[in-house]
Amino acid sequence: MFSDIQESVSITDTNGSIIDVNTAYCDTTGYSREEVIGQNPRILKSGKQPQEFYTAMWQQINELGYWRGELWNRTKDGDIYACLLSITSLTNEHGVVTHFIGVSTDVTKSKQQEEKLDLMAHYDVLTGLPNRALFIDRFNQAIAHSKRSETQLAVCFLDLDKFKPVNDLYGHDVGDQLLIEVSKRIQSSLREEDTVSRQGGDEFALLLSDITSINQVEQTLERLHYSLSQPYLINGNVHNITLSTGITLYPTDNGDIDTLLRHADNAMYQAKQTGRNRFHLFSIEKDKEISQKNHRIDEINQALLKDEFELYYQPKVNMLTGEVFGVEALIRWHHPDKGIIPPLNFLPVIEGTELEVKVGNWVIESALNQLAEWDKIGLAIEVSVNIASEHMLSSNFLTDVRSAFAKYSEVNSQLLQLEILESSALGDLNAISDIIKSCQKEFGIKIALDDFGTGYSSLTHLRNLPVDIIKIDQSFVRDMLDDPSDFAIIDGVLGLSDTFNREIIAEGVESTNHGLLLLLMGCVEAQGYGIAKPMPAGDFPLWLTNYEPEQLWLQFACTQLSPKEKKLQLFALIIEQWQSTFTKNILSSLEDSERWPIMNSDHCFCTEQLNRIKQEKLLAPEDFTVLAKNHELMHVNAQQLYQQYIDGDIDNARNGLAEFQTIVNRIKPLLNNISAT
Ligand code: C2E
Ligand code: MG
Ligand code: MG
Repeated sequence: MFSDIQESVSITDTNGSIIDVNTAYCDTTGYSREEVIGQNPRILKSGKQPQEFYTAMWQQINELGYWRGELWNRTKDGDIYACLLSITSLTNEHGVVTHFIGVSTDVTKSKQQEEKLDLMAHYDVLTGLPNRALFIDRFNQAIAHSKRSETQLAVCFLDLDKFKPVNDLYGHDVGDQLLIEVSKRIQSSLREEDTVSRQGGDEFALLLSDITSINQVEQTLERLHYSLSQPYLINGNVHNITLSTGITLYPTDNGDIDTLLRHADNAMYQAKQTGRNRFHLFSIEKDKEISQKNHRIDEINQALLKDEFELYYQPKVNMLTGEVFGVEALIRWHHPDKGIIPPLNFLPVIEGTELEVKVGNWVIESALNQLAEWDKIGLAIEVSVNIASEHMLSSNFLTDVRSAFAKYSEVNSQLLQLEILESSALGDLNAISDIIKSCQKEFGIKIALDDFGTGYSSLTHLRNLPVDIIKIDQSFVRDMLDDPSDFAIIDGVLGLSDTFNREIIAEGVESTNHGLLLLLMGCVEAQGYGIAKPMPAGDFPLWLTNYEPEQLWLQFACTQLSPKEKKLQLFALIIEQWQSTFTKNILSSLEDSERWPIMNSDHCFCTEQLNRIKQEKLLAPEDFTVLAKNHELMHVNAQQLYQQYIDGDIDNARNGLAEFQTIVNRIKPLLNNISAT
């Protein structure tokens, strides 16, 4: 039995000398029987266990008569192996120990397996960095250390920028090699006591301990970002990569590991949002803001899925011919609880997100669907849709438009028009310009530059973008009758449209006189509440049937006015606007009164025009004198009424309106007025 047993067996006397071993012992240790007899078993000592280990072992054998455990030994050749050893003491009939028997099994293989499993459980296979599980372990140690040493702990979340294209373009092998190199560079930028872990994909997390200020973290990250941004040479190709990092600091941010990692991840996302290749420190307030924003984005996404959006249509007319030549599609949200929500209350939330593209595509498809519906009832009208510049710049824009047209192949593509907002950051002008050209060439659609004049660089846009139409922003149109600067801007834009040979339309035409002034200035296309408010598609055919063009506009087309007459007419409109705003204010209560017209006659719009009439000798001298005198009188009189009104003497102010009106009436005949009243 002694010689055939698989376990290696040794017998030692009480002096510690081996007196016999079996064959298995010799096979395992590499020593022959002759070599070991008379030796002490410590010849197998590997040095991996400290002396205390052996002391404790012998203490137990002396007290209990046996010991059992695992230990590392060394063979004759110097190889280390693990064994499961049991030592039992043998006693004679008097209870005196005479021998010790050691029985051991080689467990090196299962030990190695165990270690491998341990490695797999705690380290990332590709990069050899600690994985999430080990990271959590280290985090707990670091937190304890931070508490003891009263220093801070930084948790950072790293994400490589634009790593996916490397994988897509060069294959996963190259991607893997890049990740390995990145891991090395991260490790070499950190201190021994810091931990870097791969969280999966191209994401890494750091634990930086003993932090005394954010500057310290920033310096480390600057070094790290610099190191990672140096070119990588893989299989003869040079790759460049940057990274975005989010930081959060314990104990200011006092949460568990999941919370801290999530916060660092949120901050990383912010770094991405603000242009990538940077780091960003987490803040609770910002986080709240972001989660509220995400919640709203989610709501809007749900609204899209639940079909709660609708396009309203606002007519566009040619004021000279009275023709309704098009409509603008304007989105509305039918909120189940809040009713109709206008676009500016929700579109800004999704600006720059993927959802913006989805909503934008929905708008294009719905407009085409509407065109198809109207086509069925013999209505062929141009429909313009608003397109966010980010949507236009999105990689699939042209493909999406193409497939929308394919879906509604019965629709004449030239009936669709796109409006791009000039007020929003237009982004890459060259790219936008190329897309505009493709739209014009491939689909024959026209492009308008919306809200023109509100952007930072309207002139650059005009020069670089091949748009067909300029849409004058409503903020200028609204006040053009009161404010000489707005008037001057519109005048300038009209001049530009002429020079650059673009069509022009004015939005926000709220009254007949707005239209008349625009006609006088040479703008004939208009859209605004003065014509019609945006309406549901179903209401449009009836509105169109009942539509009666504004007679004064049509009349203007018939009256061939000389340039001189046009200028006098313009003056009449301005005086009328002044008078009507003033009268309206005097007649309303103090709290309802709106903005007063410019009361000081030195600065009012009419004085400016009056000077022009004088300079250009548009009136006979005697007529001009009457005009100037009554204009002055109008101001003096109005000033008195205004004073009474604001002093609370409202009745007297209102009674004075009759005389004020008489003065104004003396002006009109001199100008051959055709305006609304
Ligand atoms: P916008 O493209 O300049 O559209 C004109 C806006 O002015 C519309 O507001 C319209 O109702 C309003 N409006 C028209 N005439 C008058 C008027 O005489 N007086 C006044 N005070 N307002 C007038 P809405 O529908 O609230 O749309 C606001 C903006 O939201 C639009 O300005 C456009 O920039 C954006 N928008 C609307 N629908 C869409 C859409 O489907 N996609 C995108 N990307 N943007 C849209
Ligand atoms: Mg528009
Ligand atoms: Mg607009």
